[in-house]
Amino acid sequence: MGLTRDFFIMLSENQTLNAAAKRYGLALGANKVVAGVDIPSTIEAIKVLNSKGITATVDNLGEFVFSKEEATKAKEEIIAMIKAIDNAGVKAHMSIKLTQIGLDVDKEFCYENVREILMAAYQHGNMHINMDTEDYNHTVQTFEILDRLKGEFKNVGTVIQAYLFRATDEIEKYKDVRLRLVKGAYKESPEVAYQTKEDIDENYIKLIEQRLLNSKAMTSIATHDHNIINHVKKFINQHNLNKDLIEFQMLYGFRTELQEEIAKQGYQFCVYVPFGQDWYGYFVRRLAERPQNLQLVTKSIFTP
Ligand code: FAD
Repeated sequence: MGLTRDFFIMLSENQTLNAAAKRYGLALGANKVVAGVDIPSTIEAIKVLNSKGITATVDNLGEFVFSKEEATKAKEEIIAMIKAIDNAGVKAHMSIKLTQIGLDVDKEFCYENVREILMAAYQHGNMHINMDTEDYNHTVQTFEILDRLKGEFKNVGTVIQAYLFRATDEIEKYKDVRLRLVKGAYKESPEVAYQTKEDIDENYIKLIEQRLLNSKAMTSIATHDHNIINHVKKFINQHNLNKDLIEFQMLYGFRTELQEEIAKQGYQFCVYVPFGQDWYGYFVRRLAERPQNLQLVTKSIFTP
C-alpha cells in the first residue's frame, strides 16, 4: 500500500496505536500542529494568533469514545474551554466532534450533550459552536442533530464535505446556517462520494460559489489549497461580496506564512486550534491528506 492516503486513513482508525500515542505524549511532530496540551497553554497560543489579526476555532482532541463516562468528561472539558475563552477575552469559538460526546454511545445522550454545550456557549458571549463532520455515517447523524437544534439555537453550524454527492443539497438546505466548506478528510465509497482529486476540487469550487452567491450567513472556506484560495479571492472581488460574511480557515501549524499574508490582505482568517493529549487520529489524518506532511515528523526529530 505504501505511504498512501488509504494507508494513513487505516492507521488513523487503529485504536491500539491511538492508546499508545496518548501514553507517549505529544511527539513525532504532533507538537508542531497541536497548540497545547491543556487550557492555559492553548489560550496562550490563541493570544499569539489574535495578535496577528487571526481568530481561532478550538478543538478538544479526542476519538474512539464508547462510554458515557468518557463522553461526559469530554463535554465538561469543552465547556471548561468555552468559559476560559470567554474569561480570557480572546477571539475564538469552538469546534466539536459528536463522536467525542457520545454519538457512538447513544444518539439521544449525544443530542443532550450538544444542547448543553450550545447553552453554555450562548451564556458565554453567544459563542459559535461548529459541529465538525466525520465519516459518512456519523456525518448523516450530525446533520440529523443539527436539524433538531438549528431552530432553537443560532450559535450552531456545521461542515459541508465537497466530496459527498449530497453536498449540493446541503448547501441549499442550510442557507441560513453558518457553514464551513471543506474537501473532506475521510475515505468514502463511490456510492456516496467523488473519488478523484479533480472531481472533488471541481465540486468544491462549485459549492463555494453557490454558497457565496446565495447565503447571507457566515461562510468559512477551509483549505490549504492556494489555487482555490486565489480563485475565491477573485470571485469575492468580481461579485463585490461582503467580506464580513466570509473567512478563510487553515489548520494550526500549516502554511503559517500564507495564513498571515491572507490576514494582512484584509480577509478574515481563522485557524483551527486542536489541543489535548489525544492527538493521534487528528495527526495521522493530516498525513493521509498530504504524505509530505511527514516532513513534520522528520523535522521534529532534528528540531526540539
Ligand atoms: P489539499 O487537496 O490537501 O491540497 C491541495 C494543494 O494545496 C496541494 O496539492 C498543495 O499544492 C497545496 N498544499 C496543501 N497543503 C499544503 C501544505 N501544508 N504546504 C504547502 N502546500 C500545501 N474535513 C472533514 O471531513 N471534516 C471537517 O470537519 C473538517 N474540518 C476542517 C477544518 C479546517 C480548518 C481545515 C483546514 C480542514 C478541515 N477538514 C475537515 C479537512 C479537509 O476536508 C481536507 O481534508 C484538508 O483540508 C486537505 O485538503 P485541502 O483543501 O487543504 O488541500
